[in-house]
Amino acid sequence: MNYMFLLMVTFKIIKKKLSKIQEAVGFRPSHSCSKQKVQSVWKSKEEASDHDGLERSFFLRALNLIDNSVALHDESNPSSYASWMMRHPSALRCFDGLMKGAIGKRIVVFLDYDGTLSPIVNDPDRAFMSDEMRAAVCEVAKCFPTAIISGRSRDKVKVFVKLSNVYYAGSHGMDIMAPAMPVRSSNSNGKHYNRALNTMDDGVPFQPAKKYLPAVREILTILQSKTRGIQGARVEDNGFCISVHFRQVQQENYGILEEKVKSVLENYPEFCLNEGKKVIEIRPSIKWNKGHALEYFLETLGLSSSSNILPVYIGDDRTDEDAFKVIQSRGQGYPIIVSSIPRDTQALYSLRDPSEVLIFLSRLAKISSSK
Ligand SMILES: [Mg+2]
Repeated sequence: MNYMFLLMVTFKIIKKKLSKIQEAVGFRPSHSCSKQKVQSVWKSKEEASDHDGLERSFFLRALNLIDNSVALHDESNPSSYASWMMRHPSALRCFDGLMKGAIGKRIVVFLDYDGTLSPIVNDPDRAFMSDEMRAAVCEVAKCFPTAIISGRSRDKVKVFVKLSNVYYAGSHGMDIMAPAMPVRSSNSNGKHYNRALNTMDDGVPFQPAKKYLPAVREILTILQSKTRGIQGARVEDNGFCISVHFRQVQQENYGILEEKVKSVLENYPEFCLNEGKKVIEIRPSIKWNKGHALEYFLETLGLSSSSNILPVYIGDDRTDEDAFKVIQSRGQGYPIIVSSIPRDTQALYSLRDPSEVLIFLSRLAKISSSK
């Protein structure tokens, strides 16, 4: 009896998903609200403790498998982005619903930098954020604890952002300037918390990869020397990590550059390579990432065990996926990917590009100040 029930519900889910795909490619009139589906993910998690929780979990996994099977397809096809948006709906379109879900909860905002607050540019030294974006982040930080978690060195991202009321984590979270002690807000009126935090005089560094710093310096020097002959290659010192940019390298030289980088790392087995957007990143192989940094910030803010905390994380990097996963596993918060193409992601919501991030942050600040 149970199996029949399972089969029937699975069939219904598949049918529903196919209908949505048809809508996306124009075969059916679109009338769906993507938000409802995403909210149901959380709802289903909550309901997993019900007597039929296991069955629901099974269906969710089946549904995710179906999603994934159609998710990564031809990126040049506009309809593929539309169908991807059904699984990762626009945080702008869903904004009102997201804010309803935030009532009575404490929002904490986490932001990546490159590709999120600033556009991706050919010269990494010129990845400036606009004055409008800076003003929006500043306003958000006046309302909610706000941290910027970047792959850049902490000092560099601070120079770009130029704000004193946000926390900074560089080197993909391996270089954190965190609050000195748990900070608790006295505002618990059931609405948004309005207390801003100030990092000007109470930051405490946390650097879990500190012992690797001498080796990072060595690798940096060797890489700068070895890549000098490759036109357009750029080695960037990111504190506890190193980035080798190849956005301006001729495509036929990509392989040569990669081989050179790999050959250097053969002598440093305690380091690993990751590839980002036209960049190879070298970092210590320690179990610490942006997700850990997010948890560390919540801990130092005195919020890690709070049941009404609502982390909002916006990022476009593969490394941001670790933070998305943490939010997913907590079952509270809004992981938002910045992407204009379909991508495999743990994020629940999406924003197309930094210009949409700007609108989202501006609305977030206004919501708080209107309370
Ligand atoms: Mg980024």
